[in-house]
Amino acid sequence: MLDTLRSLVQEVNSARNLKQALSIIVQRIKPILNADICSVFLLDVKKKDYVLMASDGLDASAIGHVRLAHGEGLVGQVAKRAEPLTLDDAPSHPHYRYFPETGEENYRAFLGVPIIHHRKVVGVLVVQRADGECFDEDSETLLITMAAQLAAAIAHAEVSGEISEPDQTLDVIEDARMLRGQSSAQGIAIGTACVVASADDIHAVPDRQIDNVSAELISFNTAIKAVKSEIEELARRLKGKLPKEELALFDVYALMLESDSFSGAIRSRIEKGSWAAGALRQTIEEHEKIFRDMDDPYLRERIDDIRDLGRRVLKALLKKDQSKRHYYPDTVLVGEEITPAILADVPTECLRGVISVRGSRTSHVAILARALGVATVMGVADLPVGRVDGARVIVDGYAGRVYIQPNETICKEYRRLLSDETSLSEELKGLRDLPAETQDGIHIPLYVNTGLLSDLTPTRESGAEGVGLYRTEVPFMVRQRFPGEDEQKDIYRKVLEAFAPRPVVLRTLDVGGDKALPYFPIKEDNPFLGWRGIRITLDHPEIFLVQIRAMLRASADLNNLNILLPMISDVQEVQDALGLIHQAYGELLEDGLELAMPRIGVMIEVPSAVYQAGSLARRVDFLSIGTNDLTQYLLAVDRNNARVAALYDSLHPAVIRAMLQVVESARVHGKPVSVCGEMAGDPAAVLLLVGMGIQSLSMSVSSLPGVKWVIRNFSRDRAEEILGEVLVMEEVDSVRDYLNSKLEEVGLGGLIRAGK
Ligand code: PEP
Ligand code: MG
Repeated sequence: MLDTLRSLVQEVNSARNLKQALSIIVQRIKPILNADICSVFLLDVKKKDYVLMASDGLDASAIGHVRLAHGEGLVGQVAKRAEPLTLDDAPSHPHYRYFPETGEENYRAFLGVPIIHHRKVVGVLVVQRADGECFDEDSETLLITMAAQLAAAIAHAEVSGEISEPDQTLDVIEDARMLRGQSSAQGIAIGTACVVASADDIHAVPDRQIDNVSAELISFNTAIKAVKSEIEELARRLKGKLPKEELALFDVYALMLESDSFSGAIRSRIEKGSWAAGALRQTIEEHEKIFRDMDDPYLRERIDDIRDLGRRVLKALLKKDQSKRHYYPDTVLVGEEITPAILADVPTECLRGVISVRGSRTSHVAILARALGVATVMGVADLPVGRVDGARVIVDGYAGRVYIQPNETICKEYRRLLSDETSLSEELKGLRDLPAETQDGIHIPLYVNTGLLSDLTPTRESGAEGVGLYRTEVPFMVRQRFPGEDEQKDIYRKVLEAFAPRPVVLRTLDVGGDKALPYFPIKEDNPFLGWRGIRITLDHPEIFLVQIRAMLRASADLNNLNILLPMISDVQEVQDALGLIHQAYGELLEDGLELAMPRIGVMIEVPSAVYQAGSLARRVDFLSIGTNDLTQYLLAVDRNNARVAALYDSLHPAVIRAMLQVVESARVHGKPVSVCGEMAGDPAAVLLLVGMGIQSLSMSVSSLPGVKWVIRNFSRDRAEEILGEVLVMEEVDSVRDYLNSKLEEVGLGGLIRAGK
């Protein structure tokens, strides 16, 4: 049954539009449940009723016409109660409604289950039987499982339907083309979707038309040749290690590769104007359909071989395609997983926005996009990547929304917002040389977060008073091995020099969690609770010491170095790290270097550090609150998981209270506290941070002007009053609404961000 379910979901996912998806659902479910009728009703958000969209069994003329309001009829009851309904004699139920056009009068047994997506009932799946034999509990649980699995696939198909048939406006889920993700780099982009296919997911390869058929055929033939020699090489290597019969498999592979049904079918699709990768996907999908219906399980499994072949050919094609890729002048990069390398490939003058199915605002690529000032939404789980290439899209990096083929009203609204944004940023630019001072004269230094050498110029020119967080893992990530001491020293020196005499905070290596080094793989069940940050570097003092020595040597004559320790959850870790730092410092002095001892700080980003903030503060020079992780660990919400993204908000009352506790504990020991997580760049949150007495803020360069504007418009006293009001609030929405109203009162409504 699991196999059936899996293949059904896959088939629905690869449907070209909603109609096709729904007809697959009804035709495949009917026999599985031994039913006479299977139907799908979907919510029409405009008319607020449920419309019959597909049926195998009911009269076709009823499709699109039978509509039931919320609570009306059995379908409306299922939707209203959001729970299944099983009846052995449907017509005798008080809510039964009969539609003559359906011809359903003889079907007594009824089972309806809600289709729920993102907590909303978006439809109802119904099976009916004529003989009155009731659907049993197994049928009910099976249909519930199917509906749960199909909800996302239906949502995909709805968006696809809207894309491929924009004129045939299905009123069903009118806002289907608006998809939610995580706001990952602020800004608005209106542009053309440019899908970057990944060899890992053949189903996500978009359709694309080409003009030059012969060039495409040459590319395809080259790819086939490359895969053929790859297979031959594989067979050569395994010769002698595998029995003859097993080795014969490679000959079968080679034959399949050249066969009419594989290469031949792909070539003929290319000849009709499809690009090779799209033709490959269509051919694989065609094979999947044929193999799925085979009775012999051995033969059925042969589809895996074809998929494997497909992946190899796709990889070879994409390798070539990447180098000759043309980008639209208003490119919005779209993909299952956009990597920094993919982003870096787009000429910056063409890049308007980024949309990624996987990842979150704290992913590496989001950090890069923020540094480039490119509107980005990550974690758009419902995006049908394979269908949006070339579509007009809007990226709302403030609200974390994406619009596919938006209608003119939405476009107009966003064009207006875009022009407001341009005038706002012109206005904000004027603040560059003004101090970040509250109205009662309290100076709150604003620093930038960085990790990319390439973005130092805009960073330096932003009016930032230094670097509050340099994520050293970024230069580690783009290499093939750990960088050596001299190599690291050169990198750090450039940053320290660029900002001297302004302070620069270099954080020691914080890998693990979602930040993997390609050459230092860590496999764990719970990576965010595992070997991460300081835990790794203390277990590998050789890595830590090399990094500290490089930092210290880089700071010679500049004296603006601060070292920050990530992921501290225990006092002993600080002691051990301090011991190693002093050891490295002592060794360098012995070598004859003249160096000032840097200031050392601890990141407060796990709950245990909040409760021990005093003990930690006593041992170091400063604390820096990493609100990205602190929010994740306090709220138990994975910062990378799009499914729970709505629960992730640093304005949660628990986070605010924890931060206040940190500030108060550090105050006892006379140690300053800064904030370097994303919260420091959120204008609404800044009011609270100033009120708490946070001494400095560090953020991405694009957030800096807005934050400065807030600071200059409030006094510390006023911020304290606002904090007092917020501390009695119990819900995150009340906190955000209240803070936004305070921004609006002083005319800073333009800075308001949507809730996370
Ligand atoms: C944080 O956790 O808030 C932080 C600044 O560190 P990172 O985002 O690199 O984990
Ligand atoms: Mg962190």
